[in-house]
Amino acid sequence: MYKGTNASAGIGIGKVVVVEEKELVIKRETVTDSAAEIQRFKGALEISMKQTEELAADLATRVGEKEAEILNGHIMLLSDPMLTGEIENMIQNDHVNSEYAIESVCTMYADMFASMGDELMQQRATDMRDIKTRMQKVLLGVESVDIASLPEGTVILAKDLTPSMTAGINPAKVTGIVTELGGRTSHSAILARALEIPAVVALTGILDQVKNGDTIVLDGSDGSVLVNPEEAVLAGYQEKREVFLKEKKELEKYIGMPSVTKDGVHVELVANIGKPEDVDKVLQYDGEGVGLFRTEFLFMDRNAMPTEEEQFEAYRKVAVALDGKPVIIRTLDIGGDKEIPYMGLEKDENPFLGYRAVRFCLDRKDDVYRPQLRALLRASAFGNIKIMIPLVTCIDEYRAVKALVEEIKEELDEKGIAYNKDIPLGIMVETAAASLIADIFAKEVDFFSIGTNDLTQYTMSVDRGNDKISYLYSTFNPAVLRSIKRIITCAREAGIMVGMCGEAASDPMMIPLLLAFGLNEFSMSPSAILRARKMITGYSTQELQAVADQAMSFATTAEVENYMREFVNA
Ligand code: PEP
Ligand code: MG
Repeated sequence: MYKGTNASAGIGIGKVVVVEEKELVIKRETVTDSAAEIQRFKGALEISMKQTEELAADLATRVGEKEAEILNGHIMLLSDPMLTGEIENMIQNDHVNSEYAIESVCTMYADMFASMGDELMQQRATDMRDIKTRMQKVLLGVESVDIASLPEGTVILAKDLTPSMTAGINPAKVTGIVTELGGRTSHSAILARALEIPAVVALTGILDQVKNGDTIVLDGSDGSVLVNPEEAVLAGYQEKREVFLKEKKELEKYIGMPSVTKDGVHVELVANIGKPEDVDKVLQYDGEGVGLFRTEFLFMDRNAMPTEEEQFEAYRKVAVALDGKPVIIRTLDIGGDKEIPYMGLEKDENPFLGYRAVRFCLDRKDDVYRPQLRALLRASAFGNIKIMIPLVTCIDEYRAVKALVEEIKEELDEKGIAYNKDIPLGIMVETAAASLIADIFAKEVDFFSIGTNDLTQYTMSVDRGNDKISYLYSTFNPAVLRSIKRIITCAREAGIMVGMCGEAASDPMMIPLLLAFGLNEFSMSPSAILRARKMITGYSTQELQAVADQAMSFATTAEVENYMREFVNA
């Protein structure tokens, strides 16, 4: 048995598909028989075309015609005689291999498109690079797994999954995910929980132990993984899987119940989402709103930025579906572990301390921030939208965003476009700086949401995805706990709403403490809501005060964790 980090609860049983992104090495080689090489190129071209057609057809039926359009564009490029003619000419005249000719010609066009600047041409550049790689992979015999069309009963094994790869996963087909890298709060883990796919991460060396087609079992609740287990063991896990699903079913009785403690304190149990489609899960699990819409997911898994119109539609859809319930939408939070290739971000030396989130947006007002804020304001006419700014460290950032929002409001007024004039503007409190001046922020901003995933990382100076130092990454560390308590106290004193949208908000050992500190709103993966409601309705905040005092008196993470574990299991 192997042991990794539990990242998404449930038992996954299925066949292994190893997902690897290999880097292609393209060398210039001299060929003597150019005619034969041209035939080789034509063969690869034909296969690439067929592959693309199949992918487009699959995407059209599974996702939608619109999504398939990009691939239809690729087919047009592949059948452009000017492009293929140039590649053939180069093979003929320069006596070079097909891979190299493709590299030269396609890169030349891609760079040319990219330099033209506008959105459409950027998209063309990305398309050109895509078809280049596809043809080269055929020539080099490199197989790539299309993550969106894996067969039913697949368990994905990968070194790491980028958020955009995870976003393409079909939960009806993928029964589990195992990765060598990542941590509980890496974005692939968060997405696995959103999709309710059992997942184990940070399992070093597992790729050397498995091959495609092996049977694999994983327990996303305790992090264990078994490869090709015996029949009896497999049967045991199948049973465990059924028990897990049964318990999940039993929680359904909490649907429609209020989230109120035994001593009458009402809290809000809301959901974290990444795409408008996730709203179905929010409603299914009776979420009382959305506490965090991570809008960066609208920007991922595509070749160009979503337009203002597309964003407006996405935000409006969520606001309308929630029908007056609060919907907190976070403005673009990229950088760190969330890369978006077409945004043209350079690799930062220290990505988590770098050019990201609100820092990036304030620097890219015209092409990135204004369209997003305008889309948000326009959508606010259709529901209870609140805007939230990520990674704020100083009040100047908040003021700069607020000024921009005010400017856009004036523009909308001039054009007679409707929006909510009182739209709340709040911040994520997720940096040590924001926590230390929470009292200052609380006087100026409309609400707080504590982002414990980053707050823990920045308080403890520990990369949230690095498993070598994950022993330091705990919200139960006394430093992090003090920070959380203080943020909540500052908000309560100033009379503003304070929520939490980091993973700690659904941690059974943390919930009693958060209730005692006075947290108003708990935002989590939709599938965690009913379990949290069951817990909350069983506590009295009065009785929890002594528990919180005791927890706060300890000097080490282990003491706090042991104490809370015992309290919860007692
Ligand atoms: C957080 O940092 O706690 C948070 C909710 O944001 P993200 O996980 O997207 O960084
Ligand atoms: Mg964060």
